[in-house]
Amino acid sequence: MVILLAGALFTGCRRQPRPAEIQWPAMGTFASVSVPESDRKHLQATADITRNIFETIEAQVSTFRTNSEFAQLNREAGQEPVPVSTATRDILVLALAAGDLSGGGFDITAGPLVRFWGFNGGTVPETLPSDSALQSVRALVGYHDLQVEGNKARLARSGMRVDGGGIAKGYAVDVAYQQAATSGIAHVMINLGGNLRCRGYGRANQPWRIGVRNPFDRSRTIGTLELTGGKAVATSGNYERFVKIDGRRYAHIVDPRSGYPVQGMAGVTVIANSAALADVMSTTLFVAGLEGSPEILRRVPGCEAILIPDREPMEIYVTSGIKAHFTPEPRYADNIKPLK
Ligand code: ADP
Ligand code: MG
Repeated sequence: MVILLAGALFTGCRRQPRPAEIQWPAMGTFASVSVPESDRKHLQATADITRNIFETIEAQVSTFRTNSEFAQLNREAGQEPVPVSTATRDILVLALAAGDLSGGGFDITAGPLVRFWGFNGGTVPETLPSDSALQSVRALVGYHDLQVEGNKARLARSGMRVDGGGIAKGYAVDVAYQQAATSGIAHVMINLGGNLRCRGYGRANQPWRIGVRNPFDRSRTIGTLELTGGKAVATSGNYERFVKIDGRRYAHIVDPRSGYPVQGMAGVTVIANSAALADVMSTTLFVAGLEGSPEILRRVPGCEAILIPDREPMEIYVTSGIKAHFTPEPRYADNIKPLK
């Protein structure tokens, strides 16, 4: 998770007030809108519009709401196509592209596996499931069997489930960001559960500053990202949502190809040109790991990443282009390594 840093952490900025912020619960996490203190007059209206957008999209794509379009798609799996809104269609289409980009590592139809491991409404298995039980669930996953045509979508086989947890928050941030831009809001940061997109400046012609948490010590940041110009950031971690089975920790991101929760990464932070892409890419690289990520990154212009494997001592692998945005804390300078 990334956090907006308080002004006092930055000696150079002490005399400038920290950005003004409104925060509220949304999509099972927290949303916030921030503007520079000098733009405080825009804050309430921007937050109100953003809140409306998030609520509308949540009602369309939440799998926890029985009347959402995602829930309907899942209920109708193997049956008739379901009419979908622009938001749902956009999310599904982008998710299909992400499936191809990631070689199936990102799969919006991972729903049955995500639930099988006890997340998003599923029951946590008491003991490690047998491979045959797992494989029968894995057989229900496959984005090639998600059909999107015009304003209709359909899951081809009964038992399939879409789960937008790795993409919908980023998409919602982009919609709110576009709305703010259209409304003439020059400086704003929109955040939904650590999916952020920044426009203009955070304070007195300074980029927005965002702290990246140390996945092994949540009270510390490993460094600071500076973002502006519509850039977005997202993080996927194994430390926020996990279950314990037989004393072992399993995170909420599954590898659709093996069926197992992904092991190996502690945290992945991605900068991209849109929040939806950052959201998708953080989950994608979390699955791809140190070995698979460079190849995927080469195919996505404007995307930079920080990968922290789940082992100690901590190693912080960074793409070369991250240097324009990321300043590690001095104490972690020796932990930085090039990702290649
Ligand atoms: P968070 O939702 O905590 O911000 P992510 O953006 O990394 O974290 O998304 C993780 C969520 O994505 C999971 O909770 C689940 O809903 C969904 N998911 C899990 N595995 C995959 C996968 N392989 N491909 C696509 N989505 C996934
Ligand atoms: Mg994500």
